[in-house]
Amino acid sequence: MNKDQTIEQLSAFIKAAVTPYHCVQTMSSMLAAAGFVFLNEKDHWDLVKGGKYYTTRNGSSIVAWQMPTERDVEESGFRMIGAHTDSPCLKVKPNPEIISNGYLQLGVQIYGGALLSPWFDRDLSLAGRVSYRDAKGAIQSSLINFEKAIAIVPSLAIHLNREANSGFKINPQTMVTPIIGQVAKSREQDFNFREMLAKKLSQEGVECAELLDFDLSFYDVQTPATVGFDDEFFASARLDNLLSCFMGLQSLLSTTSKEGVLLVCNDHEEVGSVSAEGAQGPMLEQVLTRLCESRVSLTRMIANSMLISADNAHGIHPNFSDKHDAKHGPLLNAGPVIKVNANQRYATNDFTSAMFKEFAREVGAQVQTFVVRSDMGCGSTIGPITASQLGVKTIDIGAPQFAMHSIRELAGCDDVLKTIEILKCFVQQQSV
Ligand SMILES: [Zn+2]
Repeated sequence: MNKDQTIEQLSAFIKAAVTPYHCVQTMSSMLAAAGFVFLNEKDHWDLVKGGKYYTTRNGSSIVAWQMPTERDVEESGFRMIGAHTDSPCLKVKPNPEIISNGYLQLGVQIYGGALLSPWFDRDLSLAGRVSYRDAKGAIQSSLINFEKAIAIVPSLAIHLNREANSGFKINPQTMVTPIIGQVAKSREQDFNFREMLAKKLSQEGVECAELLDFDLSFYDVQTPATVGFDDEFFASARLDNLLSCFMGLQSLLSTTSKEGVLLVCNDHEEVGSVSAEGAQGPMLEQVLTRLCESRVSLTRMIANSMLISADNAHGIHPNFSDKHDAKHGPLLNAGPVIKVNANQRYATNDFTSAMFKEFAREVGAQVQTFVVRSDMGCGSTIGPITASQLGVKTIDIGAPQFAMHSIRELAGCDDVLKTIEILKCFVQQQSV
């Protein structure tokens, strides 16, 4: 695949993956199209050598893998890539209806560490999952996506907010409530969000007797785009961390390896990973347990495995370069970043770092290193969590980006291609 095709595919992937549910749905259909077989966690699994499978939990986390074709799993181990399906956003509250001065609004919770100011003046749509009672009385769930812009959070004019450019504080309870329309005084009592959702479902041919509940997030309808005189950059929502989900999937789908290869993409990283389907939950370990005959075989299999935890890194910003350690400020389009932290906020060690550098050398790619300034706190990701859950040797890497957790983030196009090549090299390794 050439650069344009890869960027086009990435763009289509992010456009489709508007929520973790839609991300998992999109990945599932790509896997199914490539011959991967869906396994329900509720069923007995009959696994065969060389088989390609995937399973999901809560519809928002996914594990996909290829069994080794010749060796046993404990001998082969798995070349694992990990990423996360969620991104910071505004989520609709359970009782969301607000009417203020005749404007219909939906109350929201802030999901994760969202950078709030970019959410103003954006054309927003709404998507996620709804649960309802069907005509036969059974509880069902469906994905929903309004697709068109149905909401907006307008800024307050600078004339009414003289501090807007000098450290204005955004109140998440009162200032980011999206407006979805207007209503006449006489019709105010008709504003019922669940009924609006039920109507949308029935328009789509879903039999919904009563809409019971929902998990819905707002998202920006602006499509991803390349930016820059030479199209160097890629601007989009949810680059953290759909970019890594996409790159991991590309590597898994392209592999011709005879060994075990696995991709895990978890929900809830942005809120600490503690959930049934989060990286701190048991999902991956439970899947791996089902691939092995015994506890001992599982332990051997993990010892023969390695995890590349892929999550974007902070590129050094030319307007704020003092926010980086001068020797560890990654540049966009200068290769993926190895993330290092002595306090184990990242799981990288010298050995896994050396291995990653070798994979990069094999494909002629450059790598960079990120260490946070010693006078600043360090972020974290699924790497250390999964490493400590499983005891698998791990490296934390990621494409450098700007504006992490903004509604519109920016990465480098070359980094996407180079990182995919390195990951493809990793999944071809005979032993790790
Ligand atoms: Zn992330």
